[in-house]
Amino acid sequence: MTSRLVVVGNGMASLRFLERLAEHASGRFRVTVIGAEPSPADKRVLLSALLAGDMDEAACRFRDAAWYEAGGIRLRTGAPATAIDRAARTVRVAGEDIAYDHLVLAIGSSPIRLPKPGADLPGVIAFRDLSHIDLMREAAKSGARAVVIGGGLLGLEAAYGLARIGVDTTLVHVMDRLMERQLDGRAARIVRSAMERKGVRVVLEADTAAFEGRDRVEAVRLADGRVLPADLVVVAVGVRPQADLARESGLSVGRGIQVDDQLSTSDPAISAIGECVEHRGQVYGLVEPGYDQAEVLAQHLGGLPAAYEGTVLATSLKVSGLPVFSAGAIADDAPGDRLLLSDPAAGIYRKLVLHEGRLAGALLIGDTAESRWYFDLIRSGEPVGARRNDLMFGRVEPPRLAA
Ligand SMILES: Cc1cc2nc3c(=O)[nH]c(=O)nc-3n(C[C@H](O)[C@H](O)[C@H](O)COP(=O)(O)OP(=O)(O)OC[C@H]3O[C@@H](n4cnc5c(N)ncnc54)[C@H](O)[C@@H]3O)c2cc1C
Repeated sequence: MTSRLVVVGNGMASLRFLERLAEHASGRFRVTVIGAEPSPADKRVLLSALLAGDMDEAACRFRDAAWYEAGGIRLRTGAPATAIDRAARTVRVAGEDIAYDHLVLAIGSSPIRLPKPGADLPGVIAFRDLSHIDLMREAAKSGARAVVIGGGLLGLEAAYGLARIGVDTTLVHVMDRLMERQLDGRAARIVRSAMERKGVRVVLEADTAAFEGRDRVEAVRLADGRVLPADLVVVAVGVRPQADLARESGLSVGRGIQVDDQLSTSDPAISAIGECVEHRGQVYGLVEPGYDQAEVLAQHLGGLPAAYEGTVLATSLKVSGLPVFSAGAIADDAPGDRLLLSDPAAGIYRKLVLHEGRLAGALLIGDTAESRWYFDLIRSGEPVGARRNDLMFGRVEPPRLAA
């Protein structure tokens, strides 16, 4: 008899899981997917490209309703799951209780709100879905001034996209450099210059004190007293795993929904994947870990031996035509030797960190063609001592001997 599998959440991890389940456990489950948003999962990671006009809306769509139907998947969008009854094994959606034999939570995360006066004013938004892009485009039409708060990946992409569609944009960051977790000081200066060339004003070491305005936001006041006029404020200061549904049903929750190496929660009938999860004390804010977890869970439910042991993260950013790639331990105080290549005229900066004979981190700016290769070396932990002298130049082919 086929079991009833209910998946709550229809985002990127959920969809990848459904695709991999079709491969590893075809016919084993009758699947129902519950998505809070009105339409099926879109490619959230492409929203920045959509905002900047490098992509159209159709390209951001993954699978239409017909794909779910063809796969025998019952898709219910437009209403969130509001409660789990673990004893009865049901999930409540819009007043209906949906029965499961196994439940998968893939409910993502929510943007962190700045707990400052005025944070609820209209015009203070997150950067999360298509509705936010509509608001940013409206701002462009009305000649608005925007302030983006947060100098991480998302903040940079929002600021770049806004400037690209003609909005007067200021990027405010609390730290002394942009993307401080992925860039060192020199790389951060290169990225800052690239942003400024695109017309984004960058204000560093600036703590937000309040959002000001009567009926909607009119300005951001900084802790040092400066006031930045703003008709639109995009807050991109990080995300927090969505865990309320799990917490309220009595599952173990720390920073996220706690799972083991098989992605099982504290209830063996419930698994969780994606940004809602905490695994070995780690929560993630990028899509790749969710994809790895989706693969492992699909294999596990298909009866295959599989374990998730964590994901080495890599970040790629494309601002103003400047490719940036960062992976592993690249911080200024990370242990190991540094190999550096800097060619400012060509817009190239490359830093490799070698620790105990292995590649521990890579930071590439300008030319990221070898990023995959470096990333694989970091992940595999393969010894690289013998090729230390060539490593900086990427994959060097061994010389061919004349015939
Ligand atoms: C603009 C933008 C750009 C990004 N760019 C990148 C990038 O370049 N690279 C990268 O790695 N990552 C990027 N990310 C992050 C990436 O989108 C996330 O890591 C990824 O979407 C996480 O997948 P997920 O399935 O866990 O969560 P989500 O994709 O957020 O999906 C979770 C879904 O669950 C739904 N949900 C929540 N609660 C319930 C409920 N109770 N009932 C039913 N449904 C519910 C939500 O509505 C949502 O649709 C970006 C994010 C944004 C917003």
